[in-house]
Amino acid sequence: MNTVFGIHGGIHPPEEKALSNPGTILDAGIPPTLVLPLSQHIGKPSNLEVGVGEHVLGGQLLAAADGLVSVPLHAPTSGTVTAIEPRPVPHPSGMENICLELSCDGRAQWLDTSGFANWTEEKPEVLVEAIRAAGIAGMGGAGFPTAVKLLAPQRAPMHTLIINGTECEPYITADDTLMQVEAACIVEGAEILAHILGVERILFGVEDNKPAALAAMKAAADGAGRPCEVMAFPTKYPSGGEKQLIEILTGKQVPTGGLPADLGIVCQNPGTAVAVRDAICDGKPLTDRLVTLTGRALARPGNYRVRLGTPIEYLLQVAGFEPKENRRLIHGGPMMGFALESSSVPVVKTTNCILVPTEQELPTPPPAQACIRCGLCAEACPASLLPQQLYWYARARDQEQLERHHLSDCIECGACSWVCPSHIPLVQYYRAAKGMIADSKAEKVRSDRSRGRFEARQERLEHETAAREAQRAARRAAAQKKAAEGGAEDPVAAAIARAKAKKEAAANESDPS
Ligand code: SF4
Ligand code: SF4
Repeated sequence: MNTVFGIHGGIHPPEEKALSNPGTILDAGIPPTLVLPLSQHIGKPSNLEVGVGEHVLGGQLLAAADGLVSVPLHAPTSGTVTAIEPRPVPHPSGMENICLELSCDGRAQWLDTSGFANWTEEKPEVLVEAIRAAGIAGMGGAGFPTAVKLLAPQRAPMHTLIINGTECEPYITADDTLMQVEAACIVEGAEILAHILGVERILFGVEDNKPAALAAMKAAADGAGRPCEVMAFPTKYPSGGEKQLIEILTGKQVPTGGLPADLGIVCQNPGTAVAVRDAICDGKPLTDRLVTLTGRALARPGNYRVRLGTPIEYLLQVAGFEPKENRRLIHGGPMMGFALESSSVPVVKTTNCILVPTEQELPTPPPAQACIRCGLCAEACPASLLPQQLYWYARARDQEQLERHHLSDCIECGACSWVCPSHIPLVQYYRAAKGMIADSKAEKVRSDRSRGRFEARQERLEHETAAREAQRAARRAAAQKKAAEGGAEDPVAAAIARAKAKKEAAANESDPS
C-alpha cells in the first residue's frame, strides 16, 4: 500500500452528494431534437461531413477532426439533419457556435460497429488512431483530445497512469456512480491506456467519501492483468486538480509551467477510461455521457445517461424541474461551474453536471466589499499562490506581474473566493485576466507573423533588385570589354548610327528634287 501525501490549502464546503443518489444510472431518453456543437473540445472545431436534409444513423460520422488537436463528432441516434447554424453553447460568455440540429426519428437505428478482438496484440499507434476516430475528449471537464494526450511518451518515458476518481466538487456524483456501476469497464479502459502509454503502474485515486466506489474499484482492480492500486485519501476540495492529485498520490510536484508528462505521469478521468474501452472493444464512438442532474429545484435528481446534444430544457423536464424554486442554472458544480444564460444549450462532451439549486440552497452572492487583506485566500489556495495579489494585478491588467505571480498555475478552483469574507469573485478576475493574456499572446503571434512576412518580402525585393543590378553591370562590362578588344562595334554607337541613317532616308524620300 502506497502512502498518500497532503497538499497546501484546500477547503471543506458542504458536499451535498447524497442528493443525486450516487450508484444508480437513469436513462434520460431520446429528446425530439439534438443540438450538436462542432466544437465540444479544446482545439479546432470539426469539419461537417453531412448536410441539411440528410438522414443519418446512430454512430455515423457527422463532422471530421480538423487536424491533430481536434476530434470528430458522431450522431447520438438516428434522424435527419434539419439545420446547421450558430446556436448558444454552454460557455461562461454565453457565446454561440456552429451547431448541427438533428431531428431524432425515435427509431435509434445504429451503424454496425465492432472493436478489436484482442487489443493486447495491437500496436499503440493503431489503438490511438481508433481512440481519435471515436471522438473522445477528456470527460472530466477539460475536453482535451484524448489521442493527443496519449502522445505523451514522445515527450518523456511514462511510468504511471493515474485514473482520477476524486470528483471533489460538491454535488457532482457522475464519476462516483460510474465507479460503482462500471468499475470493470474503467479498469479495462485503464489497462488499454496503460498498454498504449507503455506504463506498468496504474493508480486509481478516490476520495474517502466514496466507500461504495472504493469497494467496487478494489474488486475490479484485483482482476486486472497488470499492477493496479486503488488509493483512498482524505476528502478535501480541490484534491481532484490534476497537479494536486499527483502530489497526493506520489508526493511529486509538477513544476510551474510543466505538465504531468514531465514527471512520466498521465492522468485520465474514469469516464474517459470507459469511453476508451467502448471504442476499442466495441468500436463505439463517444455519443453519450453520464450527467449529474441535481439541486433542490429538481423533483427527480440523479445520474442520467444523456445523449450528447440533448437540450438542458429537455433534461429539466425529465428531472422534474420546479421553476418557482430556482433563479439560475449552473453548468458544472458550485465551485468551478458557470451560470448558463439559456436552458436551450445542449449537453456536450464536457458536461458532468447541471446544478439547479433553490435560492435558499445557493443564495445569490452578496455584493463584493473591499479587500481587508485577511490572507484567508492565500491559506486556502492549493496552488500556493497569492490570490489577493493576483486580484490587484488582474484589476490593474498588469500582465507582467500576473505572469510573475504564476497566474497560469491557478486551477480556477474557487477556494479563494469561497473563503473570502469580502465576497470578492476572485476567480472571475483570474479567468478574465487569463483571457486577456491569451488574447495578447495571440495578438503578438499574429503581429510577429505579419512582421516576419513583411521582412521576408523586403528581403526578396532587395535580392531581386540586387540581382537585376548585377545582370546590368555584367552586360555593361561585357560590352565594354568587347569594344576595348575592337572585336565588335559599340552597341550604343551602332544604335545612334542606325537612327541617324533612318532619319536621313526619311528626309530623302520627302524631298522630290
Ligand atoms: S480573502 Fe478576500 S479579503 Fe481576505 S485577503 Fe483575500 S481577497 Fe482580500
Ligand atoms: S482559484 Fe486559483 S488562486 Fe484561487 S484558490 Fe484556486 S488555484 Fe488558488
